Amino acid sequence: MTEAFLPTATPAAVLGVMGGGQLGRMFAHAAQAMGYQVAVLEPSRVSPAGQVAEHLIATPYTDPDGLAELARQCVAITTEFENVPADSMAWLGERSFVAPSASCVSIAQDRIAEKRFFVDCAPASSVMPAPHKTIASYADIDAIDDALLPGILKTVRMGYDGKGQVRVRTREDVRAAFDSMGGVACLLEKMLPLAYEVSVLTARGADGQSVVYPIAENVHRDGILFTTTVPGPNVSAACAKQAQDAATAIVAQLGYVGVLCIEFFVLEDGTLVVNEMAPRPHNSGHYTIDACVTSQFAQQVRAMARLPLGEVRQHSPAVMLNILGDAWFEGDGDTLREPAWDRILALPGANLHLYGKDDPRRGRKMGHVTFVAPTLDQASASLRAACAILG
Ligand code: ADP
Ligand code: MG
Repeated sequence: MTEAFLPTATPAAVLGVMGGGQLGRMFAHAAQAMGYQVAVLEPSRVSPAGQVAEHLIATPYTDPDGLAELARQCVAITTEFENVPADSMAWLGERSFVAPSASCVSIAQDRIAEKRFFVDCAPASSVMPAPHKTIASYADIDAIDDALLPGILKTVRMGYDGKGQVRVRTREDVRAAFDSMGGVACLLEKMLPLAYEVSVLTARGADGQSVVYPIAENVHRDGILFTTTVPGPNVSAACAKQAQDAATAIVAQLGYVGVLCIEFFVLEDGTLVVNEMAPRPHNSGHYTIDACVTSQFAQQVRAMARLPLGEVRQHSPAVMLNILGDAWFEGDGDTLREPAWDRILALPGANLHLYGKDDPRRGRKMGHVTFVAPTLDQASASLRAACAILG
C-alpha cells in the first residue's frame, strides 16, 4: 500500500472522498485538474461535490454496499468532514489506501481525545490547550474547580461553527447548559482572554515529509469564520514560528498523512494556546487556492496519491471573505435576491468561489471570495468594498 498512483494511469485512477460538501467539491476540482477522476460517497443525491465528481455513491456513510463500491473504485480515499464515522474509515483502510487514518480522524472528532493528545504532545509542540474538564454527570459539575469559570461548555462530539457550545459563568449555568445539551458528554473549557485567533495548515506525506503553510489570522462572527487574512496584521514573526513549529510537531506525532489544520488562540499576554484541529482542508486555508503555489486541495491530492508534496510559498498577500446565505436576503426580511456578483468581480484582485448550493439560508456557507493584491492594504480595501456590497 505504499505505491504512488500517478495521474497518468489509464484508465484514469479514481480518488475517493467521504462527504459531498464544498470541501469535497474543491478537492474534486484539484484532483481533476491533475488528471484524476473522483468518486464521492454522500447520502444526498444533490450536493456540492456530487455535482462535479465523475462517480457518485449516494448511500449513508455506514452503508456496507456503498463503502464496498467506494473501496472497489478508488486507489485512495480521504474525507472532507471530520465527523465521518471513524469505523467506516477503518473498514475502508483495510481495503484501500485511506488518508488520514481512522485513528487520526477519531482523535479530531472527540474533544476529550483531542485535548488529551495535545497535552501528551506538549513536550514536543511547546503549546498547551485551554484548562479543561470532562463533564459527563452532575457529580462532575459539583467537582468543577472555580478556576475553570467563567468558561465554555462544549459537546465532546459533533460541534462545529460554534454550534454545541454554551458560555457559562457559574456552576448553575453549567448544570443548565449540560441539561440543555441533553446530558451528552461535554467538555468545560476556561474562557481565555483572546487577543486574536490564528490557524496553521500543514500537510504530511506517507514518507513522513511535511510542509507548513504561512500562518493565517482569522476573525469569527457568530461562531462562523468571517475573514482570513494572510499575513495576519497582528501576528509577530515569533508567534508565527511558534505556531508553525507546533503544527509540525503535532502532525509528526500523529503520524498523519494528508492535510491537517490546527486552530490556535493568541492570548492578550502573547501566550499561544492550541484549540482544535481539523483532519482535512479548512475554511481558513481557502486563501491558498489563489495565493499559494500549491493549494490545500492540490496538497490533499498529492498526499493521498503518495506523490511529492507541493511548494507552500505564498505569492500574494490575501484576504478571504466567507459568503453566507445572509447575502441573498435584503436586510432582515425574507425576500431573496442574487448578490451583485458583477460588482464583487469588478473589485481588484477578486477570486469568486461559489459552491453550487441552490438554497441560501442564513448562516449557511454558500461560497467565498479571496482578494489577492501586491499589498495587504490593497487586498483589504477590496474586502471592505465587498462587505459593503454583500451587506
Ligand atoms: P468549533 O468547533 O465550533 O469551531 P471552537 O472550539 O473552535 O469550536 O470554538 C469556536 C470559537 O469560540 C473559537 O473560534 C473562539 O472564538 C471561541 N472560543 C472557543 N473556546 C474558547 C475559550 N476557551 N476561550 C475563549 N474563546 C473561546
Ligand atoms: Mg473552531
